Amino acid sequence: MSTIRTIALTSAAAIMTVSGAMAADAEREVFGTLEDGTEIEAVVLSTEDGITARIITLGATLQSLQTPDKDGTLDDIVLGHDTPAEYLATPQYLGATIGRFANRIGNATFTLDGTEYTLEANDGDNHLHGGVTGFDKLVWTISDISEDENGASVTLSLTSPDGAGGYPGTVEASVTYMLDDDGTLTIDHRATTDKTTIINMTNHSYFNLSGHADMRPILGHDLMIPASAYTPVDSGLIPTGELRSVAETPFDFREPMRIGARVRNSTDEQIMLGLGYDHNFVLDTADDDMALAAKLSDPVSGRMIKIYTDKPAVQFYSGNFLDGTTPGKGGTLYRQGDGLCLEPQVYPDAPNKPDFPSARLEPGEEYVHVMKIKTGVAK
Ligand code: BGC
Repeated sequence: MSTIRTIALTSAAAIMTVSGAMAADAEREVFGTLEDGTEIEAVVLSTEDGITARIITLGATLQSLQTPDKDGTLDDIVLGHDTPAEYLATPQYLGATIGRFANRIGNATFTLDGTEYTLEANDGDNHLHGGVTGFDKLVWTISDISEDENGASVTLSLTSPDGAGGYPGTVEASVTYMLDDDGTLTIDHRATTDKTTIINMTNHSYFNLSGHADMRPILGHDLMIPASAYTPVDSGLIPTGELRSVAETPFDFREPMRIGARVRNSTDEQIMLGLGYDHNFVLDTADDDMALAAKLSDPVSGRMIKIYTDKPAVQFYSGNFLDGTTPGKGGTLYRQGDGLCLEPQVYPDAPNKPDFPSARLEPGEEYVHVMKIKTGVAK
């Protein structure tokens, strides 16, 4: 019989511990306050081994993820901010839930069933990560906290009204973060709509496996992405529509490769356009229910993560726009090379590319994107 306990939630600011004899734990606490007085809460999920994931209601954001290195020393492996104000002020989407549509939509327009929709242009002429007030800038409601013998979880939900950012349909979205006792963080994104619309939700964590306290550049990390093709982009980082082979290019990560080895390759036009890696990789594994999207490891700390997804692609972004203007946790100013993103998704600009997998969502259907971040130490 399941021992899952779901607690009744209150808006109480006090720390509330959902605990018992179970291994995993969920604690609710105050993270900070917005200028208008809105309280931003956090839920900290933790395992018996001390792995913790802190999720905040602003942007349904993964604010920290503490994992052990090869000597058992815990440190934070994601970038983030210490205050809600910094999350609102910076355009880096650190750890945030992205919606309604992850990555870019060209010319900030798309057509559905003959109707053209104009979205907010917030990246030159293009639309990026849901627009000016995307899911990352909104305060989500904690709708459930639970724990059982295998893990602890929190569910956050949000109503995005018809027309938000220019998108059709009222969308009811939710994100559940579940931390298993074995150190796997599952992020389960869901959405429904009352009008035909498009949706592409993901998590925008910047990883640095060296840990936040003793941060070294991610250029020394090794990355594997099981993708034989990627989608090259134009100068606005919009896919051209081509699926290009990675063979004999800096985009071949089918075997683990040091990130720094090819990121400065000025003879590759695509590396030049992206200022490094900022590209959508088409997963060879995508027919599986839950496919491996990437494996990232840091030879010095020994930390390793594997990312799994049920979506067909992953955006590998090497943090090229971290330019020393983003204040991060603990007074650290983030610069290029401090973090990298691996964002499972449908392809960027899919609504304008009939040959790309569809991002369409109909009333009566449920959009689901489940991704997993499996943490560990390389053996
Ligand atoms: C995109 C980058 C963008 C960044 C914003 C990434 O997902 O691929 O082009 O600048 O998000 O933080």
